[in-house]
Amino acid sequence: MPDTGAMQIAPLPAPVRPDPVRDRWTDRMRLAIAEAALATATGDVPVGALVLGPDGTVIGRGHNEREAIGDPTAHAEMVAIRQAAEKVGEWRLGGCTLVVTLEPCTMCAGAIVLSRLDRVVYGALDEKAGATGSLFDVVRDRRLNHRPEVIPGVLAEECAEQLRAFFDTQR
Ligand SMILES: [Zn+2]
Repeated sequence: MPDTGAMQIAPLPAPVRPDPVRDRWTDRMRLAIAEAALATATGDVPVGALVLGPDGTVIGRGHNEREAIGDPTAHAEMVAIRQAAEKVGEWRLGGCTLVVTLEPCTMCAGAIVLSRLDRVVYGALDEKAGATGSLFDVVRDRRLNHRPEVIPGVLAEECAEQLRAFFDTQR
């Protein structure tokens, strides 16, 4: 995640309705958006993430808490992945899905590959730092031996608006 003000949040073009690929994730994305909202209490950029187990239940959740705990790696995805691994009892998260409001950065994309998540579902695109299709595409790099499915742009506009509203208050 880039510093405040450096972010370029680009929503995807308005999705076609109905959109069977994305529509099945909108309820979960709303949960991730609610999780993201918790970040602003500590002045953190509102990004929220969930890890869903193979049966779809939430086994990890997190919001960006970089400012809250002074940890540069405390991105929402990292927090949610750590919690999920703890719950599952091991580092492999095969069969699981990560849902996150903003396109993962290089660090988080790396963690997604290393944890062997099956799928990444994200909202807004991050054209300046995104590593899941925008600036880089770490998770679908054919040189890596694990490539999760990627579903971008779920509730992209709502996710982008949440970020924009936050940055507006920071000016
Ligand atoms: Zn990240």
